[in-house]
Amino acid sequence: MTDCIFCAIVAGQAPASVVLDEPDVLAFMDIRPFTPGHLLVIPKRHASGLAQLDPEDGAKVFAAGQRIATAMRASDLPIDGVNMFLADGVAAGQEVFHVHLHLVPRTAGDGFGIRARWQTPRRAVLDGTAEAIRTAVETRRA
Ligand code: AMP
Ligand code: ZN
Repeated sequence: MTDCIFCAIVAGQAPASVVLDEPDVLAFMDIRPFTPGHLLVIPKRHASGLAQLDPEDGAKVFAAGQRIATAMRASDLPIDGVNMFLADGVAAGQEVFHVHLHLVPRTAGDGFGIRARWQTPRRAVLDGTAEAIRTAVETRRA
């Protein structure tokens, strides 16, 4: 996977400001941070998206993200909250096709946010959507 920038970082062939280096997980600073301290947590094993990600690697990525986020909040750094964010697929804004969990430190008025067309669907609509997704999950497991 030499054409993957995050695999190159794992291999030590591209620069990174490393925060955490574990046997299966690496965390390093994002080069275009949304807010100061924005970092990425990745599995060392290449997976282009969630469908390709080993669930055990996914659990380790989340655990590392939880640990870093908790440490950042407890530290003297000016961090009052943390958002976790993961883009899976082009439509979701994924640009680097090696799974990565964004950790975005937050302070009041930092300018980061979610833009959406908020809706207030009726319960019947929510129930129908839940049914469709439940079927998708059960079909996939079978
Ligand atoms: P996404 O849109 O979720 O795929 O996010 C990709 C993220 O990777 C962006 O926030 C980029 O700034 C970041 N990024 C891309 N190349 C590098 C790199 N070489 N080192 C650190 N972060 C990177
Ligand atoms: Zn990769």
